[in-house]
Amino acid sequence: MNQESNIAAQELRKVNFIEEIIEADLAAGKFKSIMTRFPPEPNGYLHLGHAKSICLNFGLAEKYGGATNLRYDDTNPTKEDTEYVDSIKEDIAWLGFKWDKELYASDYFDQLYAWAEEMIMKGLAYVDDQTQEEIRLGRGTVDKPGTPSPWRDRSPEENLRLFREMRDGKYADGEKVLRAKIDMAHPNMMFRDPLMYRIKHASHHRTGDKWCIYPMYDYTHGQCDSIEHITHSICTLEFDVHRPLYDWFIETLGIFPSHQYEFARLNLTYTLMSKRKLLELVQKGLVSGWDDPRMPTLCGVRRRGYTPESLKMFCEKIGVSKREQLIDLQLLEWCVRQDLNARSNRYMAVQDPIKVTITNYPEGQVEWFDCPLNPAEPEGPSRKVPFSREILIDRADFMEDAPNKFFRLRPDGEVRLKYTYIIKCNEIVKDENGRIVELRCTYDPTTHPKTGQWRSVKGTIHWVSVPHAKEIVIRNYDKLFTLPDMSEVPEDKDYKDFLNPDSLNIGKGFAEPALLEDASGIAVQFERTGYYVKDPDSTPEVPVFNRTVTLKDSYKPE
Ligand code: ATP
Ligand code: MG
Repeated sequence: MNQESNIAAQELRKVNFIEEIIEADLAAGKFKSIMTRFPPEPNGYLHLGHAKSICLNFGLAEKYGGATNLRYDDTNPTKEDTEYVDSIKEDIAWLGFKWDKELYASDYFDQLYAWAEEMIMKGLAYVDDQTQEEIRLGRGTVDKPGTPSPWRDRSPEENLRLFREMRDGKYADGEKVLRAKIDMAHPNMMFRDPLMYRIKHASHHRTGDKWCIYPMYDYTHGQCDSIEHITHSICTLEFDVHRPLYDWFIETLGIFPSHQYEFARLNLTYTLMSKRKLLELVQKGLVSGWDDPRMPTLCGVRRRGYTPESLKMFCEKIGVSKREQLIDLQLLEWCVRQDLNARSNRYMAVQDPIKVTITNYPEGQVEWFDCPLNPAEPEGPSRKVPFSREILIDRADFMEDAPNKFFRLRPDGEVRLKYTYIIKCNEIVKDENGRIVELRCTYDPTTHPKTGQWRSVKGTIHWVSVPHAKEIVIRNYDKLFTLPDMSEVPEDKDYKDFLNPDSLNIGKGFAEPALLEDASGIAVQFERTGYYVKDPDSTPEVPVFNRTVTLKDSYKPE
């Protein structure tokens, strides 16, 4: 096959660069099956960026018949907590993935410690008494080699004794560190005697007070991968400078050759995905919690009504690449709409009502219309919608001085009430401030959708019968931030200066009664307005609905 048709064939199969590597490895017989891992640090809740990593790691294992471990990278005892451990499991399960084993870097603390002693005895690691600042200065710069520490040439026996004393709690935080002895003039700064262990007198969420020394990321991650026989260790691009060191520790210890591959992290417009900043929003009370529906966390978007299916569709669409890019939030919303449009039940709800009295409809009469829950299945499951003499319509669906193109209700104009009759507006009633409080209309009994004659009018609007209306609380959510690219916060400003003051509007709404019986478990569509999901704050007296996403947007993915 020539190169062009090769590329064309690959595009047809939509193989990303990591899949290409895996397929080549499998074809060459390097591994019998693949093993991946998802390695969150339990210091916060998972966000949409993590969803990309989860879909990638678990997706690859599913596709190539391998497995994925959930491995907590828990080497920073002061920032980590079991609350986060639990939420991470809940979120991965919600996305619909099953991990092979649940593991912790801390499971390997004994092994990592033993390897450190082994490296000391081989003259490949030493205890350094310099301060953090001295170590930093001693590293040199990219163009200037570092200066060796005065403690660099301690004997293995002395290093072993000191390292054991560090472990046994003889020294205070920061007094000593263990460093790998590599090359203080190495062009890759990572190799200028990287730290392996630091002293931290802190309780760990799993190992308690057993340890007062903790391994550093670079000394931990590759070895954990190796112990678990991870074949493809996938991480975000900023770790590419760490890769040579990842390989160095594995080669030096002569253990299973895991390999690291990097892909571009997910960046979304109007969105921040740093756990540190998300934590600050929570701690300062700028959002209601990690699961505030405006948060990009998985528990937040879940509460907002996003579905696992829509997130997977999104991850599929954005693909995996080596180039950083900013993805349009509208693409994510488009995926949410695609999924909900196909599956969600429809109901009518009015948010800013005007009362309509149908003067020629008999007082006390009620007609129940059988209406499909999803228009894609006209003969499928249905709900019963009551119609009566007094109804509510949305204020936006009436205009007194309407332009020609306004196809909803206007004085002396006609409109179809969804699922029922055509009505005509005869009279406007206003209060003393000139605000419209009532429309007096007549209906055309010959336009019953099943038994009447077909007659066309330009517009169809939604409505709710007054005596049957259920009052609900509606939370309309919008973007949390106002800046499209949150990596471009100017230096003299703070990211919190770009919080959107209109990101939440709470109001009342009136819904058809069947809404409160909905048992679909996913967001529903409020016809003509948007998708809404019932919030856990709901009580039987006060149901609360969160806007998942508006109904329409001019956005179309390429
Ligand atoms: P944050 O910067 O938000 O704290 P992190 O990278 O420190 O994120 P980890 O818990 O260490 O968070 O991440 C677990 C995995 O998820 C890592 O493999 C990491 O590369 C990946 N990941 C984190 N953020 C993103 C993102 N925005 N896009 C894709 N993958 C991500
Ligand atoms: Mg991290």
